[in-house]
Amino acid sequence: MVHSQVVVIGSGPGAHTAAIYLSRAELSPVLYEGMLANGTAAGGQLTTTTDVENFPGFPDGVGGQELMEKMRKQSERFGTEIITETISRIDLSQRPFKMWTEWSDGPNDAPARTADAVIIATGANARRLNLPGEETYWQNGISACAVCDGAVPIFRNKPLYVIGGGDSAAEEAMFLAKYGSSVTVLVRKDKLRASKVMAERLLAHPKCNVRFNTVATEVIGENRPNGLMTHLRIKSTIDDKEEIVDANGLFYAVGHDPANALVKGQVKLDEDGYIVTQPGTSFTSVPGVFACGDVQDKRYRQAITSAGSGCVAALEAEKFLAEGGHSEPKVEVESGAAEYKSNPAL
Ligand code: FAD
Ligand code: NDP
Repeated sequence: MVHSQVVVIGSGPGAHTAAIYLSRAELSPVLYEGMLANGTAAGGQLTTTTDVENFPGFPDGVGGQELMEKMRKQSERFGTEIITETISRIDLSQRPFKMWTEWSDGPNDAPARTADAVIIATGANARRLNLPGEETYWQNGISACAVCDGAVPIFRNKPLYVIGGGDSAAEEAMFLAKYGSSVTVLVRKDKLRASKVMAERLLAHPKCNVRFNTVATEVIGENRPNGLMTHLRIKSTIDDKEEIVDANGLFYAVGHDPANALVKGQVKLDEDGYIVTQPGTSFTSVPGVFACGDVQDKRYRQAITSAGSGCVAALEAEKFLAEGGHSEPKVEVESGAAEYKSNPAL
């Protein structure tokens, strides 16, 4: 069993930014990057995309994989120890925190490592619908992030579709309206789940059209390598009537699953499973446990916001360690709502 001052769990922009700051602060961080953790390669969600065009510093865009390789190198350059294993279990009930991996635990269930502070940066996964044609046209017309992909040329002045009825669907549809010739939002029920203000804005938008009681059943497109989607088969949930519509873009906004399995039941989660952090900080309900990136952010979920929150987590972990672990983070569940007291074990 090995002890570290601070361990970072995850491998996306949040984790690597935290590691860069911690290693430059000479805290010798250990970063567990995972081995296909949550079905995603080390490097996180950006390893599943092509060009990233909105990360500052890359005026011509940068491949998602390349960006994550650069972040990984930068973490290593300052002395982060990167371990290509998934943390399979963690005990946050008292310090030092204990963690177990898939392969390198000690005998008699001894943990692989203990740490005084832990940064959770395990990310989130956009939900997919597994429609026929989805695999073929994923990233060739289909995307789970309008803000990331909406501006690419294949969507310009083309009919676009969004699936979902929540705030993300409303926000993404109005964002896409800047680029597409029209944006149709498919809502499976007869009402939007989005907040009143967002729903009203969407329904009044001149370029957006909402089709209630409608689901997509198949993505259709060019029959060639790297062919683009061209049509969508949709179905009424009332009378099962089907039609095929022109569609050059399909954006899923059907929710995300934060990667919370490791800490569920140990740190405070919100009703959607995101780690609750005190607004503007990375403090979780457990002193010494910090969270950054998409696992604690259901609103923005961008590479740059993850990186920014990784910086915050590192600075707060550094301060926590410098003060001997006596910081007293308080997590506000909702504005004005209850506070969570520090872990009594401290
Ligand atoms: P993530 O990128 O979610 O990575 C976390 C990783 O940690 C996991 O993937 C896994 O490898 C590892 N991990 C998880 N659990 C464990 C564990 N128990 N032990 C060890 N390791 C673990 N954002 C933009 O700003 N611009 C874009 O153009 C853009 N394009 C995108 C395209 C796609 C297809 C997708 C899916 C997302 C895109 N995003 C984009 C969003 C962006 O990728 C995310 O906001 C960002 O990657 C979140 O970073 P994160 O640090 O939370 O970690
Ligand atoms: P939500 O979970 O709120 O909404 C998901 C939507 O997808 C629902 O309308 C749901 O339908 C629909 N859906 C789920 N599965 C399917 C399926 N298989 N087929 C068709 N439709 C499906 O997720 P969001 O990402 O929209 O929002 C997450 C949180 O983030 C919310 O708290 C939201 O308020 C917040 N947010 C706020 C924003 C803002 O204020 N500007 C912007 C973005 C997010 P159904 O309603 O029938 O269940």
